[in-house]
Amino acid sequence: MIVLVDCDGVLADFVGAVLGSYNDRAGTAHAPEDVTQWDIPASLGVPAAELYAEVAEGFCSRIRPYPGAREALDRMREVADVVCLTAGWDAVPTWDYERREWLVREMGFLRYDVVFASGERKSGYAGDLFFDDKYSSVVSWRAANPCGKGVLYRQPWNRTDETDDCAYSASHMASVTRVLATGRD
Ligand SMILES: [Mg+2]
Repeated sequence: MIVLVDCDGVLADFVGAVLGSYNDRAGTAHAPEDVTQWDIPASLGVPAAELYAEVAEGFCSRIRPYPGAREALDRMREVADVVCLTAGWDAVPTWDYERREWLVREMGFLRYDVVFASGERKSGYAGDLFFDDKYSSVVSWRAANPCGKGVLYRQPWNRTDETDDCAYSASHMASVTRVLATGRD
């Protein structure tokens, strides 16, 4: 079995890290629950340049893992080969290097099991299960991999996205083992 898992929004609390740095600077109290659409700056009414001002060298390394993410991965590794498909960030030259190091250090990945791909390009990678918090990525992956299960990892920013009867979803990594067995959490 091959499991393909996204990083930001599934394993890594990217939104929490961005909001934490912005709140410290701006004196605001935005929470991840306030991010109700995929476009984070638009969701908060904050210019992207201000929101991402501290997303530079070193930022990626400081992102915290979601509780239970590493444990869920280790459970999956008992029955599957787990590969991380994660987007790079061209505007931050150190991002990809720090992301791979983070995934090795925090999540126990081997370096060659970290693949940089974003959006619909992820659909070119075959697997049995696919976890992502971006609805359009799940839809495109499922279209290209009809024998696999594309699982939308539920977050506030995809709560309003429609899912049809064939879609699978998970609300936290601890439920992943149930998703593996039943397709539902
Ligand atoms: Mg993501």
